Amino acid sequence: MSDKGIASRLAQVSERVARACRAAGRPEGAVELVAVSKLQPPEAIREAYRAGQRAFGENYAQELRDKAAALADLPKLRWHAIGPLQTNKARTVASVAQVFHALDRREVARELSRRRSGAPLRCLIEVNVAGEATKRGVAAEEARKLLDEVRGLPNLEVAGLMCLPPLEDDPERSRPHFRALAALARSLGLSELSMGTTADFEVAISEGATMVRVGTAIFGERPD
Ligand SMILES: *Cc1c(COP(=O)(O)O)cnc(C)c1O
Repeated sequence: MSDKGIASRLAQVSERVARACRAAGRPEGAVELVAVSKLQPPEAIREAYRAGQRAFGENYAQELRDKAAALADLPKLRWHAIGPLQTNKARTVASVAQVFHALDRREVARELSRRRSGAPLRCLIEVNVAGEATKRGVAAEEARKLLDEVRGLPNLEVAGLMCLPPLEDDPERSRPHFRALAALARSLGLSELSMGTTADFEVAISEGATMVRVGTAIFGERPD
């Protein structure tokens, strides 16, 4: 993908986010676009940064660590750790990320809390909205329990919920899951909702997403 390709795709996605906000009667700044850069080279992130993007999402702790080091010269770049995490990799996320989207275990929260210094790490509890055996995340009924368990930990702030529904051809199929996640967040008194990817971010915004995680539409297909 050429450099110009990334800048123009980013502009298109930003415009689609703005349009979805307007359509939903929400202010344009209501949704943060997280550019998911996993498996993309640091140079692709630089191009998106030059085009004005500041928030980037990475799935794998080691890749996050390497890229944060390679791109340490870029001021105000914000890292979102969006993938599942093992306790032995918590140090990387705690030291580099501003937001962790995939909290699903008390042990990981404890380890993040222990390793974090400075501003609290904002965390989102990942909910397995469709009950998929292959996916991470807590069952909807378990979210309150995990929230209660981790709420008192220092250096963390549980700010909301995240989901990644099954990939479908029709984005409308995601709507019930997004709606359920929004209702669950409301019932727990949490304000942030990380939901929506390339396949369905406009539907997610219409259901109240405050962060969308978009990779392919910005960077093109991921290299294997
Ligand atoms: C890869 C990934 C995304 C981005 O998916 P695209 O289809 O490339 O937009 C979003 N969220 C999570 C958790 C991911 O792993």
